[in-house]
Amino acid sequence: MPEAFVPLTDFVNKSKSIPRDHPLDKPVAKWIEEEILDGEVVEAGVVILRTRGCYWSIKEGCSMCGYFNDTVPGGVSDDMLREQWRKVRPILKGKKYAKIYTSGSFIDPTEVPFDFADEVMSDMSDMGIEKVLIESLPEFVTPKNFAYTNSPKLEIAIGLESSSPVVLDKSVNKRLRWPHFVKVCKLARDNGAEVKAYILLKPPYLSEKEGIEDAVQSAIDAAPHVDKISINPVNVQKNTVVEKLWFRNEWTAPWLWSVVEVLQKCEDLPVRVYSDPTGGGTRRGAHNCHDCNKKVLEALKNHRLGLGELKGLHCNCKSRWKALVNQSKLRRNGSEPHGYRSGFTGGRHF
Ligand SMILES: [Zn+2]
Repeated sequence: MPEAFVPLTDFVNKSKSIPRDHPLDKPVAKWIEEEILDGEVVEAGVVILRTRGCYWSIKEGCSMCGYFNDTVPGGVSDDMLREQWRKVRPILKGKKYAKIYTSGSFIDPTEVPFDFADEVMSDMSDMGIEKVLIESLPEFVTPKNFAYTNSPKLEIAIGLESSSPVVLDKSVNKRLRWPHFVKVCKLARDNGAEVKAYILLKPPYLSEKEGIEDAVQSAIDAAPHVDKISINPVNVQKNTVVEKLWFRNEWTAPWLWSVVEVLQKCEDLPVRVYSDPTGGGTRRGAHNCHDCNKKVLEALKNHRLGLGELKGLHCNCKSRWKALVNQSKLRRNGSEPHGYRSGFTGGRHF
């Protein structure tokens, strides 16, 4: 623990700065990416709407989550939300798959008013979009929050993060209870939605090895209750606990080899388990060495789209990753010497 005896809750709150001013009539971002729909690779239109943000981030927040940086805690009016929607529509036209993110929960009616959500769902349905991914904390997954008049097939992504109560409470600072997660998965599926679970790889205070084991176990636990699982290697987002630990060299982003290891260990699970690492290949995201970052990320992308396998990847850095994993019991946190991944440790032997 970085600051002995300081509750994580205080630590999280102190890590935050006030989000800077944002234009309310513009979305945070929009882009196109490849996705799989019914076994076929299709173009998906992706949108991040600017909203008030996640209620939990206002209250306490999770140790790794910097999404609040993109939010407007004072709220965004319905008119401004509609203006944002007008600006993102062109990118969704002609797509079969849409991902509509906020930096919180799309089905929290205090963040995204239900009437507005209902309008955009009808609009997407009229546009011919077949499936829409939205995200939510489990507490808002209740049928009335997604009982739209007319909508494409819904896919609700829920951040499980870990099935371990200790990791959830101490590493992530999330008040999710496993039985509740199971319950809302069933509720969503019984009401016509699919469920995608996000699982973290290497949240704070876990070593590389513990991170791998926790992600694999969480995927095994979640698999019977969800339709797909995305492994999210923890990355360093601004103004977060994770960033503080990273600055102090008390935690380092996981290796891409760890991502590969988790996915290989999940190969026989009954649902698709894949990873699209945010910030992959950079110091703030999951990375290996300069020689293989690109190659491994490409392999992960092909694996995600069902176009290739993860077998046969190799690089000289793999033995260094293996050594680090084997040493995990002897290390007191999730850090490693600077330059270790590239084989250069500034003359320090270790
Ligand atoms: Zn390498």
